[in-house]
Amino acid sequence: MRPETLALYHENQISEEVLRFGNAVLNGLHERFRDIDEVEEINALKVLKAMHEARISEAHLSGTTGYGYNDIGRDAIEQVFAGTFHTEAALVRPLIACGTHALAVALAGNLRPGDELLAVSGKPYDTLEEVIGIRPSRGSLREYGVTYAQVDLLPDSRFDYEGIRAAVNERTKLVHIQRSKGYSSRKTLGIDEIGRVIAFIKQIRPDILVMVDNCYGEFVETREPSDVGADMIVGSLIKNPGGGLAPIGGYIAGTRECVENAAVRLTSPGLGQEVGASLNCNRLFLQGFFNAPTVTAAALKGALFAAALYERLGFTVIPDSREARYDIIQAVTLGSPERIAAFCRGIQKAAPVDAHVTPEAWDMPGYEDPVIMAAGAFVSGASIELSADAPIREPYNVYFQGGLTWPSAKLGILTSLQCLVDDHLVTLPGNF
Ligand SMILES: *Cc1c(COP(=O)(O)O)cnc(C)c1O
Repeated sequence: MRPETLALYHENQISEEVLRFGNAVLNGLHERFRDIDEVEEINALKVLKAMHEARISEAHLSGTTGYGYNDIGRDAIEQVFAGTFHTEAALVRPLIACGTHALAVALAGNLRPGDELLAVSGKPYDTLEEVIGIRPSRGSLREYGVTYAQVDLLPDSRFDYEGIRAAVNERTKLVHIQRSKGYSSRKTLGIDEIGRVIAFIKQIRPDILVMVDNCYGEFVETREPSDVGADMIVGSLIKNPGGGLAPIGGYIAGTRECVENAAVRLTSPGLGQEVGASLNCNRLFLQGFFNAPTVTAAALKGALFAAALYERLGFTVIPDSREARYDIIQAVTLGSPERIAAFCRGIQKAAPVDAHVTPEAWDMPGYEDPVIMAAGAFVSGASIELSADAPIREPYNVYFQGGLTWPSAKLGILTSLQCLVDDHLVTLPGNF
């Protein structure tokens, strides 16, 4: 280590002891980092090929206002997403407010009264409970006569094939699979496993639609769920595929039929994909998608580093530092609200924006328990940026993600440890 590196970390309030411990942990990660670089390269090439095929030119970078008729940039971006994810079509819009909205539009557009929605990876992400009506809610699918059934994952986080076969009935219209663990302690699902369960479902009834909530999973592997049979993949542009530049937005990529069904729900029957101004988002969406494989790789390195570091300190981490990784989220079971607060304080202190504020737990709309969130982001709430969040509930897991760059992710993790050490909530091992 150069003396100036040590000095700069010191100026950033990292003690020599914490830095040396962190670097010792990093020494064991070189091979995993090389794998991440290789996946990044493959995904970057996929995006570039799709951009070349869509003949992206300067004219696509500017936006439209009002109705947005003939928004050639918007249409080209949708072609780039479809090309990269190997789907017939895509809906990529700033009018999609967030990931939950994208999922709600995909579901509402493709389900009709009397249909049943079947979740096969257990209870969906917290905010979808009200979309579906698992918790009674104004405007839920349930109010429109769409029923809901659920098959939990088995205790080892594998799909319950027998349970799925038993749950499918003549009303089953759409199967929901959530790739990432979200705020639960289960494992994230890999593409191979998702492909196997999709094949199984299609074998029971080929006309059942499969939608994968792809949030946090984009560009983590070299294939997406759409490469293994999903009819629709859905996600947020302030996570992986926005590359840190998209200021808002969501996407739905899939079969033409599914995407059109979603588009008429997003705008209006009869209008579909033809309207919806892109405002000033086209350049940011394109440049962000271009950056996304690289930004996702940086976030993955951060997640892996956090796993290895906290594992070495004796905490349970999901996934652990040797497991294959299928999303950018790292869960660390810290075991107490005090440790969660210190961890989040550290992440916040290292953020590029709002580093001087202290995060506190609050009752977020759509979530059942109070949530503490550390985020100092260029795009408000963007969790591809360095961030940590924790619902205040047993077993006191903190979910860490992001870092647009690897050095900023590294500083965030070291600062989280520094805060824990300073508060005497963690002691470093004697020799490392
Ligand atoms: C983030 C997330 C969502 C919801 O996205 P928002 O943009 O927060 O509305 C849905 N599912 C999963 C798995 C997520 O991680």
